[in-house]
Amino acid sequence: MLTARRIVRMNNVVIVGAGHAAGQVVASLRQNNFNGRITLLGEESWYPYQRPPLSKRYLAGDMQAERLYFKPQVFYDQPNIDVRLNTRAMAIERATRSVHTDDGHAFSYDYLVIATGSRPRQLALPGADLHGIYYLRSIDDVDRIRAEIKGNRRVVIVGAGYIGLEVAAVLAQLDQQVTVVESADRVMSRVVSPELSKFYQDVHAENGVQLKLSAAISGFDGDNRIASVILADGEKIPADIVVIGIGIVPNTELATDAGLDVTNGVVVDDHCRTGDPHIYAVGDCTWHPNRLLGIELRLESVHNALEQAKTAAGNICGEDLSYAQVPWFWSDQFDLKLQIAGLSQGYDEVVIRGRMDERSFACLYLRNGQLIAVDAVNSPKDFVQSKPLIASRAKIDHALLSNSDIALKDMA
Ligand code: NAP
Repeated sequence: MLTARRIVRMNNVVIVGAGHAAGQVVASLRQNNFNGRITLLGEESWYPYQRPPLSKRYLAGDMQAERLYFKPQVFYDQPNIDVRLNTRAMAIERATRSVHTDDGHAFSYDYLVIATGSRPRQLALPGADLHGIYYLRSIDDVDRIRAEIKGNRRVVIVGAGYIGLEVAAVLAQLDQQVTVVESADRVMSRVVSPELSKFYQDVHAENGVQLKLSAAISGFDGDNRIASVILADGEKIPADIVVIGIGIVPNTELATDAGLDVTNGVVVDDHCRTGDPHIYAVGDCTWHPNRLLGIELRLESVHNALEQAKTAAGNICGEDLSYAQVPWFWSDQFDLKLQIAGLSQGYDEVVIRGRMDERSFACLYLRNGQLIAVDAVNSPKDFVQSKPLIASRAKIDHALLSNSDIALKDMA
């Protein structure tokens, strides 16, 4: 017999946002045989799509936009799925359980999922509004950048994180003259060890990318259109275009205005539920606990978006799912596939497995003797086999870990 509560649950779910996490919520609700109404509110003009290829194959021109779609457009033609693109959610009214949009509509919900993601952090410096300066987060952003790539243009990239380095690799391979300006003293400093930063710096230099580390930007120069990037020491780097990738900011304003708890993200529990039992939040915009890691955090990763979406959808359908997984990430640059499992922050020892000069190796990070993270470069087996070891906080002898003749799976 269905309980009254169960019947309410099958009524009406509204999802704010139409990114990776939102697309997975729709798919998971359907997989859970949810037969109520699903409304998806998306600000962009595209159906939910995958962002990782944007700074890789899509920028390189190797993919059509529709190939990025998370599900083909026909998937959303199912009865009871209502996709509203080009629609911005303006307010959540918790008392009436409704979401108000910029086109004057109100959508009522039994359950609301906040999947608002994040936006690029802006560089507020003189000249930052000149034509030819871009951020990269959406299909439309990449289309605008691609339209500028012709001949042998001078491209200055600000930030040597994932966006900066992936864009540098693609554009260098498209014969552009690429300079990367980074404020830290090494690339990808937020996520990898100095050993790995040095390896990637060498690879980029070999491929013609100019790296300017420990460099502060004071502004942009040009007459209507960008002409040069000005560094704090007075140096001017000539530029035909600029791409800025200096991190992201979670989109939490809707949640804050609705009176939900927000810190560096919308606060949810391990069930992806906010303090309001009718509101869940998933993906980049959430601040959530992870039992495996023993911390609360905000994660910018596709894996997190997908898994939190599955958790929220399952719980909306009456399951009792808890989210606790080893985070993972990847980055493609030139012929290198970097796969990261775990979080290396706070490590006190790093073990190199395999040979860097053969471009197939892994950096294993330990804290108090426990394996906490692995960065695998062209070494997918080490990446896959490390995850259960990280989850179980395995303590493994240093000499054993560095012996690449012994598979990590045999060290459990
Ligand atoms: P990111 O990975 O946080 O890297 C930003 C980099 O810019 C950092 O190295 C940062 O240094 C540097 N920076 C900050 N302010 C700067 C300034 N004023 N001048 C020069 N450098 C500055 O962020 P992102 O590369 O912009 O990526 C944005 C988002 O997309 C992230 O969520 C990322 O995870 C995601 N993404 C992921 C992938 C992937 O997983 N392969 C690919 C593309 C994008 P500090 O750390 O010292 O501040």
